[in-house]
Amino acid sequence: MAMEQHLHIIGGGMAGSEAAWQAANAGIKVVIHEMRPKVGTFAHRTGNLGEMVCSNSFRSDDHEQNAVGLLHWEMRAAGGLIMDMAEKHRLPAGGALAVDRDPFAESVTAALTAHPNISVSYDEITTLPKDGHWIIATGPLTSGALAAAIAAETGTEALAFFDAIAPIVYHETVNMDVAWMQSRYDKGETVEEQTAYLNCPMTKAQYEDFIDALLAADKTEFKEGETAGYFDGCLPIEVMAERGRETLRFGPMKPVGLTNAHDPGNKPYAVVQLRRDNALGTLYNIVGFQTKMKYGAQKTVFAMIPGLETAEFARLGGIHRNTFINSPSLLDDQMRLRSRPNIRFAGQITGVEGYVESAAMGLLAGRMAAAELQGRSLSPVPVTTAMGALVSHITGGAEAKTFQPMNVNFGLFPPLDGVKGGRRGRKDRYKAYTDRAKADWQDWLVPQALAAE
Ligand SMILES: Cc1cc2nc3c(=O)[nH]c(=O)nc-3n(C[C@H](O)[C@H](O)[C@H](O)COP(=O)(O)OP(=O)(O)OC[C@H]3O[C@@H](n4cnc5c(N)ncnc54)[C@H](O)[C@@H]3O)c2cc1C
Repeated sequence: MAMEQHLHIIGGGMAGSEAAWQAANAGIKVVIHEMRPKVGTFAHRTGNLGEMVCSNSFRSDDHEQNAVGLLHWEMRAAGGLIMDMAEKHRLPAGGALAVDRDPFAESVTAALTAHPNISVSYDEITTLPKDGHWIIATGPLTSGALAAAIAAETGTEALAFFDAIAPIVYHETVNMDVAWMQSRYDKGETVEEQTAYLNCPMTKAQYEDFIDALLAADKTEFKEGETAGYFDGCLPIEVMAERGRETLRFGPMKPVGLTNAHDPGNKPYAVVQLRRDNALGTLYNIVGFQTKMKYGAQKTVFAMIPGLETAEFARLGGIHRNTFINSPSLLDDQMRLRSRPNIRFAGQITGVEGYVESAAMGLLAGRMAAAELQGRSLSPVPVTTAMGALVSHITGGAEAKTFQPMNVNFGLFPPLDGVKGGRRGRKDRYKAYTDRAKADWQDWLVPQALAAE
C-alpha cells in the first residue's frame, strides 16, 4: 500500500494556520512545524499558533465598499479558521474587526491541535526540504538559518530583509491638469515607454515649503531589534532632506530631462515622479519616497505636491523589518517555487502585507496543495475576486524589479466596463466590484465543495 503523503507547513502564524486548516479539512494529513516557543522572534510573545504581533485589528469589515472587508467575506465563505475565530473573539470597534488577541490565538491553537488530520511539531526548520510537499509560511521574521537557505536557492537579490515602501496612489485621483506623462529625456523605444512616468512640478517656493514640512513631520522610530539598517538605495526621504535641503532636488526630485507639458516655457524647480505599479495601470508609486513619517503626517505632506492635492492612497509609505521573496519572478500561479515545485510559499513572505492578506494567501496555498496531493485540478482563482486579485498581483501582475509588499485594494481589480470612474462613481463602482467578486468566488468554491462530498 502506498504511504499516505503528508503536507508539511513551516510556520504556524496567520498563513500557516489557515493553510493547515484548509488542507486538513480537505482530508490531507498535515504537520505544522513551528519554532516558537523554543526559538522566539522580537515581536511574538507566546508559543500560540496564530499570534497577532502588533495591532489587534483585522481592519474594515465592510464587504461592500472595502477590499479588505471583501477578503473577510471570501474567507468566511471558504470556511476560514482565522475569520471564524476572529468573529468569536470580536471586540467593539465600529466598522472594523478588532480581536481579543490572546483568546483568539488560544482558540486557533486549540482548533488546530484538536483536528484529527493535524499534528504540530515544535521545531525550527533550517534547510530547504528536498522531498515531499511543503508550504513555507514563516512570515516577516523568518529565522536567520531558513532565510539563508532560501537566499541560497533564489539568489540573495530575490530575498529582502526590509521593505522600503514608497506610497502608492490611485491613478484616477491624480490631477492631470497639473501632472503630465513623460519619461526623463523621453527615453524608450515606444511612446508607452517615453511617457511611462507621471510628473508633478514644483516651484522653488513649493519645494522649500515641502522640505520644511518633511523636516517637521512626525516620524516613527524603529522598534527594538528592527535596527535602522537602511540600504543606500532606499534612504527615507526625510533622512535625505536632513542631509541637506538640496539633496532631494539632486536625487529623486531632480527636474532634469523633463518639460512641463502644461507650461513648456517654465522649467520646474523640482519634480516628483510616479511610476506605474501594476500591469493594469491603476496604481502609481511615488519614486524614491520611502519614509518613516507617520501615516497622518504623510497625508498632509504629500498633499503639498502639485497634482496630488486630493490624491488617494492605495497604501502609504514605510520601512519595516520584513523578510519577503520576489514572488513575481520566483513563484508560478500555483504559488510554487519554480525551481523546486514541491515547495509553496504563503503569507507575508510572498509579499502581501497584513494579517488578513497573509491568512488569505495561506487559505489558497492550503487548497492548492491539497488539490495537488489528491490529483484534483483546481481552476485558476478568478482575478475579479479579492483573493484572485492579490495572488495574481504577487505572482505576475506586479513589476518584479520594484516589487514591494502590498495590501489588498481595489486598484488590483480588473476595471469594470460601463461603471462611472472618478470619485463621484466610487460608491457604485466598489459595490459593483464586490458583487462581481462574491459571485465569482462562490463559483470557484462550488466544484471544490462537491469534490469533498
Ligand atoms: C513588528 C511587526 C509589526 C506588525 N504589525 C502588524 C499589524 O499591526 N497589522 C497587520 O495586519 N500586520 C502587521 N505585521 C505584519 C504581520 O506580521 C503579518 O501581517 C502576519 O503576521 C503575517 O502572517 P504570516 O503567517 O505570514 O507570518 P507570522 O504570523 O509571523 O507567522 C510566521 C510563523 O513562522 C514561524 N517561523 C519563522 N521561522 C521559522 C522556522 N525557520 N521554522 C519554524 N517556524 C518558523 C514564526 O515563529 C511564526 O509563528 C507586523 C509585522 C511585524 C514584524
